Amino acid sequence: MSDVYLKLVNTPMGKTAAQSLGLPAPVTLKRQKRTDQPFLEGDVLVGAANGGKAIAALGSILTASAANLHHASGNDSLKDSSKAGNKAAPLGLSQDSTGPTFSALVFDASGLKGPDDLRALYDFFHPTIKKLARHGRVLVIGQDPATCRKAPQAAAQQALEGFVRSVGKEIGKKGATANLLWMAPGAENQLESSVRFFLSARSAYVDGQVVRIGKRTDAPTTNPVAPLTGKVALVTGASRGIGAAIADTLARDGATVIGLDIPPALEELEKVTSAINGKALACDITDDNAPKLIADFIDEHFGGIDLVIHNAGITRDKTLGNMPEHFWDMTIAVNLTAEEHINETLSQRALLRDNGRIVCISSISGIAGNFGQTNYATAKCGVIGYVEAMAKQLKNGITINAVAPGFIETQMTAAMPFTIREAGRRMNSLSQGGLPVDVAETIAWYCSPASNGVNGNVVRVCGQSLIGK
Ligand code: NAD
Repeated sequence: MSDVYLKLVNTPMGKTAAQSLGLPAPVTLKRQKRTDQPFLEGDVLVGAANGGKAIAALGSILTASAANLHHASGNDSLKDSSKAGNKAAPLGLSQDSTGPTFSALVFDASGLKGPDDLRALYDFFHPTIKKLARHGRVLVIGQDPATCRKAPQAAAQQALEGFVRSVGKEIGKKGATANLLWMAPGAENQLESSVRFFLSARSAYVDGQVVRIGKRTDAPTTNPVAPLTGKVALVTGASRGIGAAIADTLARDGATVIGLDIPPALEELEKVTSAINGKALACDITDDNAPKLIADFIDEHFGGIDLVIHNAGITRDKTLGNMPEHFWDMTIAVNLTAEEHINETLSQRALLRDNGRIVCISSISGIAGNFGQTNYATAKCGVIGYVEAMAKQLKNGITINAVAPGFIETQMTAAMPFTIREAGRRMNSLSQGGLPVDVAETIAWYCSPASNGVNGNVVRVCGQSLIGK
């Protein structure tokens, strides 16, 4: 379903009309067009608070980009970052902070030790935030507060979340985003895939999010154009909408995809899988024999699986008092129970390969709750609990994460009543709905071999929706 208002306000006449009527004027987001597109271009300003632990890693990641790097300096308030910048200078960061606009502002706040140090945020961003370009990126790197031993340090690191979420709300009208990466101590070598993702056009609709990055011994280097080469992926609900976009995106990144959907959707499913040289599997994931059928199919054709994407989902909305029993049961079964059974069987039969990836789809409804969706929100919140618990149990480099989409333009949201649909589209910092590819790109980032430090996260793909956390 297309967003007519978004198209209209991006015409000269529509823009003037929206401005004079005080209506929101969302910017059409810039998304990844080519696989070989540089992840970052233009002028980028980098800074760090005293004691920043990520600046050296950032230096090497950013110098490999197509961007012109500048280091914050030349102003009293930027002294802190220029001290840390001494480390960065030999990596090629220029000391020049001039320039008309910045495509990204990147700040290493991992060295903040207490609330007094928070001034470094103001010092770096106050003089520069107005220079952020349309479609720009703000990325802050901090230390995971759960790993801080002292309360003042935990306070300062936690504070970054409030800062980043507020910045996101201020810059959304430019189509720009702000996100935060919380590293575990010693996880600097795991930053690369996340820094690349959050600074690129691939994360166009991911805004106001916080990602925890854990320590892992290895940090595999990948081919940035096809990082999933040699991987086999299972995508449920792949015949249309978000699932079809996930299948396309994982195939674009080099994976061989098994698309799964219910038998009545087989024709549509085959259109998706044949276009990407994948395989189609007709199966209702709630059938008792579904886990066995899926495991047999994987075993027979590939001998194992690397990426399991539990995308199939349904809504059956009714207020609780009016909800028939089968609405409740079906919604829990498709959105939650089936995933657990499939994973269990794959793991019992040792089909999920080392360094595998499991990605589940939650929803903003599961985080915030939604009128008429007690069944769906229960299931989607259960997904979060499942992912967080499993992340601690999985071994052999296997990770599990979730995405929680907000309003995404699909047949599911096209079926909403007009006023609810319009509200869903506009009630976020970017004042528009996302596209299926936005969810798919986020999943592709989780799936990258280089994302092995990203485990147990729930990232919302919602343009920083006003509802929920
Ligand atoms: P969609 O309805 O367009 O697609 C869902 C797919 O899942 C369909 O192809 C359907 O046939 C398949 N499916 C349903 N039941 C199945 C079963 N029992 N076995 C196998 N396949 C089954 O939905 P979508 O909008 O593309 O959503 C994809 C996922 O994202 C879902 O989990 C949904 O809950 C979630 N989500 C979507 C949005 C949104 O705005 N569209 C928001 C939040 C979460």
